[in-house]
Parts: sequence; structure tokens; C-alpha cells
Amino acid sequence: MTELARRRDKDAPREKWDIYYDDVRVGSIGQRAGVPNHVDQWEWKCGFYPGCDRSTAGPAGSFDQARAALEAEWQQLLPTLTEANFQAWRDQRDWIARKQAMWERGEKLPSQQPSSLMRCPCGATFDSHRPAESQIHTPHIYAAQKRDGIRR
Ligand SMILES: [Zn+2]
Repeated sequence: MTELARRRDKDAPREKWDIYYDDVRVGSIGQRAGVPNHVDQWEWKCGFYPGCDRSTAGPAGSFDQARAALEAEWQQLLPTLTEANFQAWRDQRDWIARKQAMWERGEKLPSQQPSSLMRCPCGATFDSHRPAESQIHTPHIYAAQKRDGIRR
């Protein structure tokens, strides 16, 4: 059986661990933010989205208590899950990564993104690759060319 593994979340301002089952992030354990000293300083969460509708969470007095609570919860949850549940989470993760990569490419190479936007003599900016928009403005452009004596 696959064991749960934990990875430190280095971006978190406090100690926080992401809990993984295989490559799916199924929960977390971390120090609570902005709570008084006399209450539990840790919290755990068990569940993942999308793919799994059930999610549980609670406070804990220590990391070990949080881990024990999460593992007990996971033993309840795991038998209710199928590969499709995990795949839904992976699909979402992969889609976000693709979107991020596309966005980064677009950010770095704006000059290589051909623009189909045109300025019409009527004052409007339109997308010349969209027939419905081109159709509206084509007569304006011809009229302006005629007026200015430009021959094609
Ligand atoms: Zn126009």
C-alpha cells in the first residue's frame, strides 16, 4: 500500500507540510496563524479538490497529534476513493501547469505574438481575423482609401 509522504511548503510563512499520496496532494499539516497561545497551535486538513467531495480538518496540540488525526481520517477516506478521483485532481494540476506555461511564454515573447487587431478609419479597433468584425469595417476602410486617393 502506498504510504503518505510529506513535503515542506517553503512558501508558507509558518511551518507547513503538504501531504501526498503518490503524486496527489491529499492534505496538509501546519502551524495556525494568529491564534492565542493557550489554544492548539497546529491544524490538519484531509481531502483534495477537485476529485474528492469529502474534506475534513481540525486543530491539534502538536505536529504528531495533527499527523495522527490526519492519518486516521485518511484511513476512512481512502477505501471510498477510486483511480478516477485521483485522476480528476491530476488533470486539474496538469491543466493549470499548461496554462501557466502558455502565459509565461506569452509574457516573455510579446513581439512574437502576431496581432490581428486593426484600427479602422471610423475610430474603432477590431479583430481582422474575425469575419463578423471585418465585415462591418471593410466598407469604412475602402471609403477612406477612396477619399484619400489610395489605389490598390
Ligand atoms: Zn469601422
